[in-house]
Amino acid sequence: MTYKLVSREFRKDDLILDIGGVEVGGDKVVVIAGPCSVESVDQVLKVAKEVKKLGAHMLRGGAFKPRTSPYSFQGLGEEGLKMLSTAREETGLPIVTEVMDPRDIPLVSKYADVLQVGARNMQNYTLLKELGRANKPILLKRGFSASIEEWLGAAEYIAVEGNRNIILCERGIRTFETHTRFTLSVVSIPYVKKLSYLPVIADPSHATGRRDLVIPASRASIAAGADGLIVEVHPEPEKALSDGAQSITVDEFSELIKEVRKIAEAVGRKL
Ligand code: PEP
Ligand code: MN
Repeated sequence: MTYKLVSREFRKDDLILDIGGVEVGGDKVVVIAGPCSVESVDQVLKVAKEVKKLGAHMLRGGAFKPRTSPYSFQGLGEEGLKMLSTAREETGLPIVTEVMDPRDIPLVSKYADVLQVGARNMQNYTLLKELGRANKPILLKRGFSASIEEWLGAAEYIAVEGNRNIILCERGIRTFETHTRFTLSVVSIPYVKKLSYLPVIADPSHATGRRDLVIPASRASIAAGADGLIVEVHPEPEKALSDGAQSITVDEFSELIKEVRKIAEAVGRKL
């Protein structure tokens, strides 16, 4: 691997990001939680307050949604971003949200603390280059058919333009297995940390697609050395406009935090 900017070969120390006072890549494991999609101000405020109380460090929520079908809910756009920003005012939680189109970068940057690149856009090089010139940290999801080489190549595209504040996210890859939505590539976490100094987090929600597997996948990711998690939480998952089957309830999130804390301590980290 010859990616000069993101490769560990060319930099010995690990990157620690400071996102509104939340450190990513340090001793502490970070938990980003929130709904798949922002659906209403009540929904997002409710989840934000609950997850904050239980120990989440940042709030996630999509306003621009990359959906398989063009007839599915596409997200609330700027209205959704405003709702996220209200939730940040009320809770202090920094906001992580997806940007799908290079043309929307200025708009999303107005409201977000971290710009998420979705799995489906990991190799959208126009978007990556433009994000390299943005003034915000980037959460780069692994494409579900992307090799580690391709994933790190995508990070390099962002870095080349000047933005070195990149968090990698393992969110499951596509395999022959159909019981789970994707397959969490647990070993990619330590492997990518060997190859790159960038922080690596895991997404147990998209990786499994099943609520009952979110906690085990979270435990495994932290045990494997992940610097954090991004988890979908919904006040009423059965009513969610997207990804209800993999969204956990607030009570389950409370359980997740307890479980993850134990694993984090077992591997010499804190939550
Ligand atoms: C999401 O975070 O809601 C999402 C769409 O994730 P991914 O791009 O990993 O599928
Ligand atoms: Mn989702």
